[in-house]
Amino acid sequence: MSREQKQQAISSIKGTRDILPEEARLWQMVEESARKIFELYGFRELRAPIIEPTELFEKGTGASSDIVTKEMYTFTDKGGRSVTLRPEYTPSVVRAIIEHRLDLQPQPLRFYYIGPMFRYDRPQKGRYRQFHQLDVEVFGEKDPAVDAEIIEMAHRLLQAVGVEGVTILVNSVGCPTCRPAYGQALREAAARVKDRLCPDCQRKVEINPLRIFDCKLENCQAAARTFPLINDFLCEDCREHFRQFLIYLDLYHLSYKIEPTLVRGLDYYTKTTFELVVENFGAQNAIGGGGRYDNMVKEFGGPDLCGTGLAIGLERLLLVSKIEAIPQSYAYFAHRGEQAKQASLLAASYFRSCGIPCLLEFKERSLKSHFSRANKIAATWVVIIGEDELAAGEFQLKDMLRSKQYKGSLEQLARIIIDKESSRKSALSKE
Ligand SMILES: [Zn+2]
Ligand SMILES: [Zn+2]
Repeated sequence: MSREQKQQAISSIKGTRDILPEEARLWQMVEESARKIFELYGFRELRAPIIEPTELFEKGTGASSDIVTKEMYTFTDKGGRSVTLRPEYTPSVVRAIIEHRLDLQPQPLRFYYIGPMFRYDRPQKGRYRQFHQLDVEVFGEKDPAVDAEIIEMAHRLLQAVGVEGVTILVNSVGCPTCRPAYGQALREAAARVKDRLCPDCQRKVEINPLRIFDCKLENCQAAARTFPLINDFLCEDCREHFRQFLIYLDLYHLSYKIEPTLVRGLDYYTKTTFELVVENFGAQNAIGGGGRYDNMVKEFGGPDLCGTGLAIGLERLLLVSKIEAIPQSYAYFAHRGEQAKQASLLAASYFRSCGIPCLLEFKERSLKSHFSRANKIAATWVVIIGEDELAAGEFQLKDMLRSKQYKGSLEQLARIIIDKESSRKSALSKE
């Protein structure tokens, strides 16, 4: 290796980042809450690969969507296949259902997943090219009660991780029966103001005028305010579904706002769409959302299986969550001499088999130096193992948080740690 090569430090790819242990602890806590709550509602984990055939997203996410046209991590692999790092999860689940004939199982099917997604987006605060989502999907349930149940579940999760000031925006985007007439009216309205739209939205006038509502530019938003709204075009079936959906939201005492322009950036939604919005630093931020996609499975060549789901961005969730990490409690072994060191290895092994986390250090130190070391690494317990203690079979234990001392066999000390830790944890959780 040349000198120059040696000095070239490698850093992470733009738009990606390391989650270091202190922060990862918060991620674990949020993920654990999510798993627990999803399982409470009968969801089971389905883990699909991170890479998929590119056509899966062209077909599922929609060939004209911003995600597919601008933001996909697509490349050709060594076998000459076009593969894509998944930009969202739903098409993968749909593929898995068809591939494994999961539709033959009792319905509704309820799946969840927690993991990374990839979009070649402009990196900005709280947004990364590798980002992470909590994702839930239900298949084979037409009843709008399930749309409301998913939202109630999301609301429970947000409360569990200390997110406050959540607004639920809801809408219906219709179905293939009622959307064409609306699409026609919308296209006509958009064509009338075409020269006021940004080049991107001008293109959307022909392809998918619904997407103009998603544009963040002020000119386009002003123009979009003159457009007809979907609510006036809903067919009887969609209107009834939406009416019942709101009744179930009321039943759960969830406060929501009907947002007629909420169409979400994806082609596949039918009927229900929703977004979870949080007030943060004076700005409204969507931390998650979802909706119904009753035709996707069929369009993929699968059975006629309706679907509804939700995705929450983990990075954004963590930005607004008030969750605090409880520091890990460790036992540290202050040993002197080779024999005591070996006894410490065995004692730590025994403590760990009792479920007590231990930190072993192998350097020979004085007792005083052991204690200052234990302080530095924030050990909560110190077990003193010297030659005298070994001979007597009785050891000293120091509680570093309360400056208390105990004496006893390793079994007795382990019991003390377990008792004290469990009362400490229940005191913390009551706070
Ligand atoms: Zn309809
Ligand atoms: Zn625009």
